[in-house]
Amino acid sequence: QKAEWAKMKDQPTMSADGQRVELAANIGTPKDLTGVLENGGEGIGLYRTEFLYMGRETFPTEDEQFDAYSQVLQGMDGKPTVVRTLDIGGDKELTYLDLPKEMNPFLGLRAIRLCLEMTELFRTQLRALLRASVHGNLKIMFPMIATIEEFRQAKGLLEEEKAKLANEGVAVNESIEVGIMVEIPSTAIMADVFAKEVDFFSIGTNDLIQYTMAADRMNERVSYLYQPFNPAILRLVKMVIDASHREGKWTGMCGEMAGDEIAIPILLGLGLDEFSMSASSLLKARSQISKLSKADMASHSERILALSTSEEVEAYVKAIS
Ligand code: PEP
Ligand code: MG
Repeated sequence: QKAEWAKMKDQPTMSADGQRVELAANIGTPKDLTGVLENGGEGIGLYRTEFLYMGRETFPTEDEQFDAYSQVLQGMDGKPTVVRTLDIGGDKELTYLDLPKEMNPFLGLRAIRLCLEMTELFRTQLRALLRASVHGNLKIMFPMIATIEEFRQAKGLLEEEKAKLANEGVAVNESIEVGIMVEIPSTAIMADVFAKEVDFFSIGTNDLIQYTMAADRMNERVSYLYQPFNPAILRLVKMVIDASHREGKWTGMCGEMAGDEIAIPILLGLGLDEFSMSASSLLKARSQISKLSKADMASHSERILALSTSEEVEAYVKAIS
């Protein structure tokens, strides 16, 4: 089996009926690139930049960030590279950023909410990203977007920094796509509105499941509610993919679900364009997709989405595989 996977390393990801999808990797630091390239990653679907800010005493400078982003973009050699802007708060804290304690940190001032409040911090990251953009195929992604105004505000700051750099005579890649993570139900529900303004979506199921089911992703006492295959989740996923395609945009998934054996056939049938997972899952997923017919899976979608429970969905997928 391992030998079969190894043979797929340099092949494009293609379903049995000849449909291309992109298999990308999730990374936390530039060091993770080796694993991505060794396992045939076709891109980076999620670079979690918060690791650059963690385990230190002060904020990383613009130049330190520029170095890290450039390294990743150069290493990927023109392959699509989605960099997510700072996603702290919730369970991810910075020792040097003294934020007031909150009753519900996962529902509090985190990720883009924090960046839109601490705009200098955000602008520094955006400048570093824009400067690095000439080194590869950069796509910028904002985390935890709940409303279209948040997206417009974040994109506005990006445009401002871009204009400043242009004034300073600094070169910036002109074709950077700007997208959002869909990890809050309001955003999935409003995907048709977002799809007119964003360049792409990436579904963050780790959070989308927790917020849809109102079950803390870290709390074992409610882990029975953490159900990737609950039809509620699948219907949201479908809404996002369909909305993006109607506007000629693409949708990826960078939550754990994207690399799951049961999820992959369903997501392929729903028309997901990009699957982003840990590097160690890539070859197995490529092999699985090569044996699946996208058209067949699409013909099962309606029945799968009409099922009542997570268990029924799992059983259905197992029965047809
Ligand atoms: C997600 O929420 O699915 C996601 C990919 O982001 P993180 O796991 O970093 O919250
Ligand atoms: Mg998340």
